Amino acid sequence: MTALDVPAWIARAAERIAADADRLTRLDAAIGDGDHGHNLRRGFAAAAAALPGDGPPGRALIAAGRALVAQTGGASGPLYGTALRRAGKALGDAPEADAAGLAAALRAALDGVRELGGAAEGDKTMVDALAPAVAAYTEAVENGATLAAAATAAASAAERGAEATVPLRARKGRASYLGDRSVGHPDPGAASTALLLRALADTAG
Ligand code: ADP
Ligand code: MG
Ligand code: MG
Repeated sequence: MTALDVPAWIARAAERIAADADRLTRLDAAIGDGDHGHNLRRGFAAAAAALPGDGPPGRALIAAGRALVAQTGGASGPLYGTALRRAGKALGDAPEADAAGLAAALRAALDGVRELGGAAEGDKTMVDALAPAVAAYTEAVENGATLAAAATAAASAAERGAEATVPLRARKGRASYLGDRSVGHPDPGAASTALLLRALADTAG
């Protein structure tokens, strides 16, 4: 496959989020307010429902991002909504999301999350999964990997990044109120980002 089926990715992401919503909520109960899975299940169901029937993939991402912002409670709604909208803007009206286009889109998504949330790597947020995923994807594409292989590398990097949040102390978001008591738990947003990247790999593969 040389291009990503963007609506299929969003639909797959909604499936994976729904399947793991209870786990995400449990992770958030440990260091937040216990609503992350609930927030995202609702938001991604709305995003999947908002997908246009046709048109360029960038437009689909923008529509999905808007629906996420409108329908997702909590900090994660605007963050993921911004990520998808920025990714969509990066694709513009290109007829296909090819490997290089997706690299630019993922980079734009990360930049959007960083700008809106102000988190750096190591702050124990979704950035700790998204940043290594974008780096792994970009490196793979630069080395000539197919879109599918690069997406798989990105998903694995996101999963490792999410796992690596366990020993970190949260410096952004609700978990930061816990200070040292946030240590020893994975960040829920990093875990959901890993699911979104795994959904990307499922769709591209
Ligand atoms: P809330 O904390 O408002 O209940 P959620 O539970 O849906 O929102 O989402 C929490 C997740 O959002 C965190 O686990 C973290 O990954 C992410 N998050 C929170 N604040 C920020 C931020 N400033 N930058 C990046 N990610 C953040
Ligand atoms: Mg929460
Ligand atoms: Mg909340």
